[in-house]
Order: sequence, then structure tokens, then C-alpha cells
Amino acid sequence: MDIQLYNTATRRKDTFVPIDPANVRMYLCGPTVYDRAHLGNARPVLVFDVLSRLLRHVYGESAVTYVRNFTDVDDKINATALARKEAGAKGTLEELVAERSDETIGWYHADMDALGALRPDHEPRATAFISQMVDMIADLITKGFAYENDGHVLFRVRAYEAYGALSGRSVDDMIAGARVEVAPYKEDPMDFVLWKPSDDALPGWDSPWGRGRPGWHIECSAMAYELLGDRFDIHGGGNDLQFPHHENEIAQSKCAGHGFANVWMHNEMLQVEGKKMSKSLGNFFTVRDLLDQGVPGEVIRFVMLSTHYRKPMDWTGKKAKDAARVLRKWRAVTDEVDVNQPPSDEFLRTLLDDVNTAGAIAVLHDLFNQGCFGELKASAAMIGLLNNGMGEWINRPGVVLDALTERLSQARAKAMETKDFTEVDRLKAAYLDAGVEVRMSKDGIVLGADLDADLSKLDSFL
Ligand code: AMP
Ligand code: ZN
Repeated sequence: MDIQLYNTATRRKDTFVPIDPANVRMYLCGPTVYDRAHLGNARPVLVFDVLSRLLRHVYGESAVTYVRNFTDVDDKINATALARKEAGAKGTLEELVAERSDETIGWYHADMDALGALRPDHEPRATAFISQMVDMIADLITKGFAYENDGHVLFRVRAYEAYGALSGRSVDDMIAGARVEVAPYKEDPMDFVLWKPSDDALPGWDSPWGRGRPGWHIECSAMAYELLGDRFDIHGGGNDLQFPHHENEIAQSKCAGHGFANVWMHNEMLQVEGKKMSKSLGNFFTVRDLLDQGVPGEVIRFVMLSTHYRKPMDWTGKKAKDAARVLRKWRAVTDEVDVNQPPSDEFLRTLLDDVNTAGAIAVLHDLFNQGCFGELKASAAMIGLLNNGMGEWINRPGVVLDALTERLSQARAKAMETKDFTEVDRLKAAYLDAGVEVRMSKDGIVLGADLDADLSKLDSFL
């Protein structure tokens, strides 16, 4: 069972060869914990969740070490803490920063758990690895790859010849295309911050260069080295991180003498009207927004996995409705089935080909159509769908009413064409009999159910 993975660094799909098949190691850049995760942030979580499940299937349940960090040193976290302090919150700024990070990590866990993402083996917080970052920075200075100036420590980009190799760009192209910050303490505008000073009002740690805090890039280099060692197998993240974040991680780690990552994997962006969903563009909604609107986690997961991770994708309400209908259909035939068989060969073969979840879901449709319900359930479980624990949504009144509304709308649309309203009348009568109020107008159909409605009477219409 070979896994093929597209490696950004080689720009090819290669057969994955682990360094040590008994301990396959993967690092994913995690969130900066200042606010709720938006739906785009869930994409890498789900893609690498599926990859970690696949790796465990191939190499063994305990043969994978999966690390995803929390960036809890960041000016945006500081800003939220400062705003709270100014609004009269009690505690030191450090305490308020920690409070904000703790709160955000709690939300993150709840939201990603709801999407059926398994927790990684390690979830390091940057603030717990400051001394490793300081050691690494000191080493880079000793080796001539970094310099201190005015309380800042900068990485000397021109000293690392292979800089830009990951994204295939020259340093000069990158300067032209990026917003590189010119600053008086930099020898060269491309140089990036490894350490910066903190004033008394900001969180900071003592270091050979005074009280300060690490830059974002060194956090990942230090945590990956500490938890996964000199060389590891897979490094992942969204493709928005390729430059500068991943170029900088590579430069720091390689210059410190570490082997670092063999395979680089990047997911494409979740988009809104052709643009990356992002906090800074303001075109985002959170995972929690969707869950609160009643969209089940399993449905979100299905929609996200229906597009291959190297393709951009849009979230649409229609995709969610379609996914709910398919999952309901599949659950109706698999809920009582015990899984005592491996996933289907075809399904596994598809998934082994660069985590082709979209193709794998197409195979699930085939399995349903062929009546292979045991294989359907066993295969779906490999990508975290149709699990017994995630199916409660099926009987939630809101979800059931949505499905009943959809059914009646379709029947009405058909009746408009054929002028035969028998099916519409039949549905309406059954709904009324179950205690569901039906309001039909030219704007659409609205169903209402109060507490004594018996929705179970309508199971056959779902
Ligand atoms: P951040 O907290 O912004 O560093 O992002 C956390 C993770 O989410 C990173 O791996 C990003 O690449 C990823 N990410 C951010 N926006 C999107 C998006 N619109 N679509 C897919 N992944 C994203
Ligand atoms: Zn990172």
C-alpha cells in the first residue's frame, strides 16, 4: 500500500517513503489563537486529519506522530487583551493574554471536535517552548545566519542560498512581489524577525537580547525540532503560508543544521466569490456560525472533503443541503450495520492517490448504489463519516424540518410542470397529520412544528 503525495518542494506527486515506518512524523501549522476559527481555517484541519487517519491505516495506529501547534504569541492576541484591560478587566496583561488564548483554544477544540477532527498527538503552545526558540536563535547568530540590532534579532536571508526554493522564486522576485518591511534595524529589507523587544506593557521573556518575544516563524521551527526531531516526514499548511512563513521556517531550520521536512503539502484556499476567505478581508464566517445555524458538523465535513485539497473551493448552502440529503440516505442503511470489514479496495486506492477525498466520496456513492452497505460504512469511517458518534443530527427537529421542506418544494416544482398535484396533497396531508403546520406561498414553503408534533411519523418522507 503506497501513498502518493504531491510535494510542493519537488512539484511532483511522489511515492511517500517514511523515514521510519514505525514512527511517521507530521507537523501542521496551527491557528493563531486570538479569535474563533473561520471556515477556511477548518480546511487544513480536515485535510490533515484525513491524512493522519490514512497514515495510521497504512503504518499502524501507534506508528504516527501528528503535531499541530497553537500560536499564542501574537500582536493580535495582545491587542484583544489590551482592549479588555482598557475596558476595566482585572488581572495583568500577561494574565489577560493567557485568558484570551485559553478561551480561544477551548473554542477551537469544541469547533474542530464538532467536525469530527481527531486531536493531534501533540498540540504545543508556542509560549511553552520559548527557551528552545532562544537556543535556536543564539545558534543561528553563532553560525552567522542571524544578527542582533537594537534589541531585534534578524535572519540574514541572503546568507541562505536556497531561499525561495519551496515556492520556486528568487529573492529579488519576492522582494518585488511582497510587502517586505523596510526597517532601520535591518541590513536588508528581506531579513525577517527572529526576536523582537517587548515594552513593559506587552508579554515578554528574558533573553540574551533583552526582554522580548519570538517572531512567528521561529516558533514552528523550534516546536517541530523539539517534538519531531532533526528530520521528519510531512509538513503541512495552507498555500497562503508557503511564502514567507514556510520559506522562513526552512531557512531557519536548515541553517541551524536540521534536516527538517521531507514532504511539503499545501491545501488550496476556501474562497468567497473568488477571494480567499480571511479575517483581514472581512469576508468570513466562523465554524461556530454554521453550527449555530443548525448545519451539522458531519455535513460541514462532507462538503469540505468533497473537493480535492489542491483545488480552491466555495462553501454554498446548496452544497450543505445536498450533503445532508446524501448522508441521511446513507445513514438510513448503515446505522444498524456493524463494521467488521476493511474499507473497499477501490476507495482505499483512491484515497492513497494524494488524499483524493473527492474521488473517494464518489466511490462511496457507488458502494451505496451497489447495495454494499458494510463496505460503505467501513470506507466512510476512514474519512470520519457515518461514525456512530456523529449521527445525532439526523433526528434534530430543525434538520428534519429542512429535509421535509425540501421534499415538499421538489414535489411542488414538479407539480407545477405536470399540473398533477396528487403527490403535493399527499405530503401535505401526512405533514398535517403528524402535527406539522404547512404554509405555502409563492415565496416558498414554511413548515412549523410545535412540541406535540410527532416527526417520527414522517420518517418515510426523509
Ligand atoms: P492562521 O490562523 O491565519 O495562521 O491560519 C491557520 C491555518 O488556516 C493555516 O494553515 C492557513 O493556511 C489556513 N487558512 C487560512 N485561511 C484559509 C482559507 N481561506 N482556506 C483554507 N485554509 C486557510
Ligand atoms: Zn508554521
